[in-house]
Amino acid sequence: MKILITAGCPESERYPDILLSPLLLGFRKEISISLGQLSALTPNENQIDVVDEYYFGDIDFSKQYDLVAISSITPHAIRNYEIADEFRKRGATVALGGYHPSALPEEAKKHADSVVIGEAELTWPQLLKDFENGKIKSLYHQLEPIDPNIIPPLKRNFEKGFYCTGVQATRGCQNRCRFCSVHNVEGSHIRKRPIDNVIKEIKEIKSNSFFFADASLTGDAEYSKELFNGIKDLHKHFECFGNINDLEDDELVSSSKLAGCISWWIGFESISQESLDNVGKKTNIVKNYSKIIKKIRNQGIAVKGLFVFGFDYDMPDIFNKTLNAIFEWKIDDAAFLILTPCPGTPLFKQLENEGRLLTRDWSKYNFGNVVFEPKNMSTDELWNRTRSIAKEFFSFSNITKRIMNNPNRNLYTFSNNIISNFLVGRYINKRDYGF
Ligand code: SF4
Repeated sequence: MKILITAGCPESERYPDILLSPLLLGFRKEISISLGQLSALTPNENQIDVVDEYYFGDIDFSKQYDLVAISSITPHAIRNYEIADEFRKRGATVALGGYHPSALPEEAKKHADSVVIGEAELTWPQLLKDFENGKIKSLYHQLEPIDPNIIPPLKRNFEKGFYCTGVQATRGCQNRCRFCSVHNVEGSHIRKRPIDNVIKEIKEIKSNSFFFADASLTGDAEYSKELFNGIKDLHKHFECFGNINDLEDDELVSSSKLAGCISWWIGFESISQESLDNVGKKTNIVKNYSKIIKKIRNQGIAVKGLFVFGFDYDMPDIFNKTLNAIFEWKIDDAAFLILTPCPGTPLFKQLENEGRLLTRDWSKYNFGNVVFEPKNMSTDELWNRTRSIAKEFFSFSNITKRIMNNPNRNLYTFSNNIISNFLVGRYINKRDYGF
């Protein structure tokens, strides 16, 4: 059976810069983990093509496939529907899965022969069997969370030098942030894969660097410490996501450092405690940010922050206050996002009920557009000021200052920091929306 496993991506959303990206990715051509997962779950006797449009993959519509599997997040949904429609026109059977189809299966069904809701470890192999027997169902729904013991390692090597460097040790998150869509697919309890399985998988990654694709690697600190201790002799570098309150644990941070952590990506979201409380981000206590950031950086690990604007308690002074705080805390890298109510989240429901959603053009749900009516500022103000602080943060002089302040003097991490800062700065200047 000939199968295409793909994730479409609109042109404007593709990986920032084809010239600089080989430096950042270490001359690899990356494949995202959802495609690595689906490929690992597809029996070898099938002939599989894997194309990730986000990382420069080109879909060849003239190729004949029996089955096309498309994984979709919300901002890429429209592009993925185009791909689905085109392949169906050409006679292929199409299955849609991932975050967006899991949240809006009825919408996805209009573009697919089958929709897969939730995790794929059991549903995808079942769909393949049913398809072979000519009995594909229109819906596959994984109701129970998958047993983490049966999650196989990702497939990593693909044709034409494409490679997958993500690893997922845990799934799910026990926190209940009202804007977050992790629960839609991964559930609201943390599930941990056996540590030996994760270590074995990391050992098999050919590259010296990889990233943990876990929603948060601090949900169970004891598990993460054991994992970090288990990989410390592998001499690899990695980045991962964590919650700020959990990173107060010195042992957790130092064990991550010994294991090769070069940076923690932290969802600070806001420096307004009222905004955080209102969206249920209970893990974040703003008055503790400064001392925890300092502790992490003192261990030689970079702190990279995710900041979101447009919460109902955000007043117009939130932008300057945030930028000043970030400079004071010496944050090493950051992403500035506009609050986006992804379908399936409590926030989406709330804004829909309040009649505050401005569009259902999913391509605008990319954290760089204003898709709802903000409370304390105009849509233009939210957009312009998010973009303007992003530009300021990534100005040449501020990037230079950050690079000189980099807490990690190792040559690899130093150059990684330079490239990622300049790459994002360049991306922002090219993009026509805030970031
Ligand atoms: S802590 Fe992070 S992953 Fe967990 S619900 Fe909140 S935003 Fe989502």
